Amino acid sequence: WENKFLPPPLRLDDPVRALKVEACLSGLALRGSALRRVAGVFTREMTRGLRQQPSSLQMENTYVPELPDGTEEGVFLALDLGGTNFRVLLVELRAGRLVREDVKQYHISDELRLGPGEDLFSFLADCVQDFVRCEGMEDQEMSLGFTFSFPMKQHSISSGELITWTKSFKCGGMAGVDVAALLQRCLRARRLRVTVRVLLNDTTGTLVAGAQLDRRVGIGVILGTGSNGCYMERASAVSRWEAAPARRGRSPDVCVDVEWGAFGDNGCLDFIRTDLDREVDARSLLVGSFTFEKYIGGKYLGDLLRAALARLAGAGLLPRAPPPGSLTSAHLSLFEEENENGETTRTLDALRAACGGRWGEQDALVAQHAARLASNRAAQLVSVCVSVLIERMARPHVAVAVDGSVFKRHPRIGRLMDTYIALLQPLPFSLMGAEDGSGKGSALTAAIAARIAAQDN
Ligand code: BGC
Ligand code: MG
Repeated sequence: WENKFLPPPLRLDDPVRALKVEACLSGLALRGSALRRVAGVFTREMTRGLRQQPSSLQMENTYVPELPDGTEEGVFLALDLGGTNFRVLLVELRAGRLVREDVKQYHISDELRLGPGEDLFSFLADCVQDFVRCEGMEDQEMSLGFTFSFPMKQHSISSGELITWTKSFKCGGMAGVDVAALLQRCLRARRLRVTVRVLLNDTTGTLVAGAQLDRRVGIGVILGTGSNGCYMERASAVSRWEAAPARRGRSPDVCVDVEWGAFGDNGCLDFIRTDLDREVDARSLLVGSFTFEKYIGGKYLGDLLRAALARLAGAGLLPRAPPPGSLTSAHLSLFEEENENGETTRTLDALRAACGGRWGEQDALVAQHAARLASNRAAQLVSVCVSVLIERMARPHVAVAVDGSVFKRHPRIGRLMDTYIALLQPLPFSLMGAEDGSGKGSALTAAIAARIAAQDN
């Protein structure tokens, strides 16, 4: 059991070199016992977070009390902010089904991502204005679902403050600001007849969108630029309720946003941290925070691979070190794909392009092995979180809705997760790709909120 988590050993023409490579990267290879320990710490941090005791896991109350029941209706606007592109969507639902989806992508410049928050939100409102104009819907009253993929302190299903930026955003002046209210203000200033009805995290959107495809869905996971998960918890286990639980007495559950990207930021996970991780962290935009996300997220996996190859080059095990910024998670996926097919051609092309110098087939195999170790650890760590959630839910079968660029594009991460989750816990589960939780999930959540409000009146 212990060793079932490890990838197969590296095989090279020179077995001594292979052993040296393995030794150099041994910190990335986690065995079952280490993962059990991570699971124990995760469980403890979750309990503490739910009780509002000091914890690196926020366990945020999203105020989303139930999942789609197939009666959701209406036309909604949805905004998706957090990853690479900003998207505005128009979504139409009929009897819980998506019958129309218009999408427009807008580029967010570095200047906006790193400048004053007011400028960013003014830009978001400009995009909404442009979008409703293009749709010819300027005069129509519309409800909007805002998918804001950052940690928030939510006050209700439609309001919440940003806690900290993550990934590639770092706008000033946003501490303690209610992002839904700020967006609403910018929309009103443009005389748009749009009301922000729900504010949600992308994991919540994914859970809700997934539940519409499979009723057994109880967990939502993002494996993309960043990483995070949410799940349905008993409302009574959540201690912070600023707004009354919706449908009090009738809805026993509520969706909790774990915010596992910050797991271990209090030092409780230092036993798995390597020098390579310290290097990735030191070169990141937000140093010292969201350290767990830096083991998993697509924003960081390329740099982890680069750091690993640089370490090997330093030890004379590779011809050259890749320069900073030269490798991305797309390289990781490429190396993994070729590794799986027993090929090296495109790996070699990529290494030559990134580093220059003379690279041979044996070097490519070494680089692929490093990619394999980085991918493996990412899959293991997400699997630990998911397996703890599955056990906590203790249902006959839990389906897990997953979205995000890494999950979609990495050739073997889904299969690795299937294997590891099954090794880590005994209950039946399934992983399910649930695309576009940010668009569809946001509209569905707005419709659920409207339904509940109508029923309660
Ligand atoms: C954010 C989460 C989000 C995740 C995936 C993290 O950086 O803190 O709120 O769900 O990225 O987008
Ligand atoms: Mg996204």
